[in-house]
Amino acid sequence: MDLLSYAKFPFLRDAAEYVKDQGVTLEDLLTHQAYRGARARGKARAIDALEHGVVQLRPMATEGDRLEEILSYPMARMYVSGVNERFLTRRYALAEGVTMYERLEREEMDVVEEVAYQLDVAASRDDGSLRMHFSDYLRYTSRMRSKEWKLVNTEVKRGYVHLPQLRFARVLQQALQDRLESELPLPVDETILRALDEDIRELRDRAVIMRERYKAEDFGKVSVENFPPCMKHFIGMAQAGENLPHSARFALVSFMHHIGLSSEEILNLFAVSPDFDASKTKYQIDHITGETSGTEYTPPECTTMKSYGICFEPDSLCENPKAKVKHPLSYYRIKNRPLRSRAAPSSRSSGPSARR
Ligand code: SF4
Repeated sequence: MDLLSYAKFPFLRDAAEYVKDQGVTLEDLLTHQAYRGARARGKARAIDALEHGVVQLRPMATEGDRLEEILSYPMARMYVSGVNERFLTRRYALAEGVTMYERLEREEMDVVEEVAYQLDVAASRDDGSLRMHFSDYLRYTSRMRSKEWKLVNTEVKRGYVHLPQLRFARVLQQALQDRLESELPLPVDETILRALDEDIRELRDRAVIMRERYKAEDFGKVSVENFPPCMKHFIGMAQAGENLPHSARFALVSFMHHIGLSSEEILNLFAVSPDFDASKTKYQIDHITGETSGTEYTPPECTTMKSYGICFEPDSLCENPKAKVKHPLSYYRIKNRPLRSRAAPSSRSSGPSARR
């Protein structure tokens, strides 16, 4: 692998060896003027993780750019460790994983295989696919809930799971994410904390702001307090990093859209999910909200939600025969009315399941 590969995948063992060979000391990295760019880039890595869920690309044309990019990785780890905030650590691990996946999408299979090797993910080539032992596969995919990752839906031959390059890269994403979550925070001593003090404080403040923004209570223009129990349950799952079943994801996205949240706000809600794939999620949101499909879907009615097994914890309003809640959107409308008129049922129908 060359310098550009190390810059693209700075978590590789060889990238760390390269830095060692350059004779860069920790003290230089923390304080020397020559590494000011690497420090700034390391901080930007952490900010990107917080705000975008992925490390933004930057030009890596020169050798200097590439070294800076490699060094930004240990810097980012020091920043994240200095802040020592679980929310940031998880966001950072997720963002590094997603970034690696996006970069691997454009690489040859040799590179994917090498990255796997350096991440200690045992794999080997078999014609046009990569294979791993089923026990490793189960370990790396244990947090990935969608059906496509179930062992029964994969090609298993003599105890080995065969995966096309992209699916294999997705497993690697999880392997890197798991590894970072288990490694961070690193122990950081006084020297590091002192040198990075101002930036660490800024990152901590940013992490608090972002964490609050992701909290259900903080959708600003809408009142989560008045959400039906099913939607509160889905939001709780999404924010705990659990993957939602497809039907719940559909119901939640269409619900959020109809009460006025933007596609970006909806996207952010899913950003902490271990299975988060920004482009795939955006595609789904754009489809459900009618942006690309031309059909603006509404959530299913309560009876349908019940038949899907996703009517969670219905409360007294759901079950109040006078209120006649037949739809999660009706629940929200009733809850948003002044108290005096709540018992009266909504005269408006919740509408068809899709608007064109
Ligand atoms: S009854 Fe309807 S609104 Fe209430 S929790 Fe079930 S699906 Fe949601």
